[in-house]
Amino acid sequence: MLGAAWQRKRANGQQHIEGELPQHYAEAARTDRFSAGGPVTRINRLGSNHLLSLLPRDDREHVLGRCEKLSMEVGRVLYEAGEPIAHVYFPLSGMISMVLGASDGATIEVGVVGNEGLLGASIALGSERSHVKALIQVAGEFLRMTAQDFRAEAKRSTALTGLAQRFAQSLMVQVSQSVMCNRLHSMEERICRWLLMAHDRAGVDEIGLTQQFISEMLGVRRPSVTVAAGILQKAGLIRYSRSKVTVLDRAGLEESACECYALVNRELEALMRR
Ligand SMILES: [Zn+2]
Repeated sequence: MLGAAWQRKRANGQQHIEGELPQHYAEAARTDRFSAGGPVTRINRLGSNHLLSLLPRDDREHVLGRCEKLSMEVGRVLYEAGEPIAHVYFPLSGMISMVLGASDGATIEVGVVGNEGLLGASIALGSERSHVKALIQVAGEFLRMTAQDFRAEAKRSTALTGLAQRFAQSLMVQVSQSVMCNRLHSMEERICRWLLMAHDRAGVDEIGLTQQFISEMLGVRRPSVTVAAGILQKAGLIRYSRSKVTVLDRAGLEESACECYALVNRELEALMRR
């Protein structure tokens, strides 16, 4: 059981160490050590888009000049699967979920995007259509730019093209890791991983998430989510109600998640640093 595993890790005296980080991650990042594979890097910073922050100032100003800022609520659909990509989105907060649906109507999440990157990065790889449906999963603020403007800016800025391509690569890492995770890791570990991803991007401890939504995103039955959430609550990691989850012990969630969370974050950080 997860609660026991978590307590065992705690009993073994594993400590969380605040580390010194590269200059441009200074405020945002935090390094923890935990049993599942070394440091966890967090690059999400509320109200700021990490990918845009890595652009040279001139390029960033050009991009910002073509963006409009909008607040979007949970459930808003940004892309339909198979449809042309009309806009790219740079989240400043909140989380976008990319989902695929089966013919019987069931859906499963294949990846998430938050203020570490952008939605629509596949345009930088020459794609014109979205293979997935994309919708807002955690409300927030987003910068939006037309696909046409993005192509024009990418032509002008090799830095933007490179970052968008590397972010697209990081999504491939995230998606392929999720395939393995969904098949081989326990549901409790997966829920911890998923809550950590949402927590990073939401930037606040209280996240508007229903268990129904979590069950749809993870492709598991709702009663199973209820049982797993109960275990996490009993272990003091979260508090949940019908419509929201409150993260009480971030470090405990990291200790209880599978290694996929840290691995995907490390790959993202390394790809975006180059
Ligand atoms: Zn996993």
